[in-house]
Amino acid sequence: MITFGPVQSRRLGKSLGINNVPPPKTCSYSCIYCQVGLTRHMTTRRREMYPPETILEETGKRLRLLDRADYPDYLTFVADGEPTLDKRLGESIRLLKGFEIPVAVITNGTLLGDPEVAEALSEADWVSLKADTADNETWKKINRPCKTLELEDMHASYKRFAEMFEGILVTETMLVSGVNDATDTIKETADFISTLDPLVSYISVPVRPPAVQSAVMPERSDIESARDIFLKVLPNVVLLDKFEGAETGYTGDAVQDITAMCAVHPMREDTMARLLGKDNAGEDTVDRLLREGKIKKTCYRSHTFYLKK
Ligand code: SF4
Repeated sequence: MITFGPVQSRRLGKSLGINNVPPPKTCSYSCIYCQVGLTRHMTTRRREMYPPETILEETGKRLRLLDRADYPDYLTFVADGEPTLDKRLGESIRLLKGFEIPVAVITNGTLLGDPEVAEALSEADWVSLKADTADNETWKKINRPCKTLELEDMHASYKRFAEMFEGILVTETMLVSGVNDATDTIKETADFISTLDPLVSYISVPVRPPAVQSAVMPERSDIESARDIFLKVLPNVVLLDKFEGAETGYTGDAVQDITAMCAVHPMREDTMARLLGKDNAGEDTVDRLLREGKIKKTCYRSHTFYLKK
């Protein structure tokens, strides 16, 4: 399933998700906090994935099925892996712009050194670059990059992109307790981000089940102290440390809605209940998907989450 939602996003309002990376999960990182599990195919090699015409058709279909109230504020590339590994991402973005809805891409930024990737991303209206740390050892611990990647080169490519990009550039830093939340590490991260001059620097924490169980959120006082350190060098810092809310778009097909969303976005029990209600479906739909092994259930921070199996 290529499209899902729209889901409520604190960064983008109503965001219709576009998952342009077919399974298995393919990424140049295997972040310890990843909410879609361990990376099954680690690579930095770009290849053709879904044809842009298929992405356009699927997006159009979903838009036509939505209630006016659910119409998205953004079409967002947020994949089961890294969206820039799709060699034809730029073409897809160009086609989607025909809907006259702004296009966003959430990327780990690892491939920005490739001029074709920078060019593809420059077609988007809003780009979020991952910036968890500027320290090499910490980077290896938290993002677990492909061996061919070098942090210094990658950060140099971030700076080049930030200078040429005409859309909205934001950064996202995921804080993990005991990994990248030490004061010196945070200072270094904030100093690096300040060289990019992003519109907003988001700080997030693992609010959904992480790939590695030990990747948990820092204490509240540490999260607040990280925000204060960021604020010393960055004008706009926003903490994303709360649940976005259970509201989500629906198409009337509960099975499709659930499987598409679970592929990239673990669903909390209240979101599931709300979606089932909108799709006029019952708990038996979830039970069937669990029995068929299409989704699984897990408990995290006192909540039940449903995610792809
Ligand atoms: S969080 Fe993003 S960059 Fe990290 S492993 Fe998951 S999909 Fe890849």
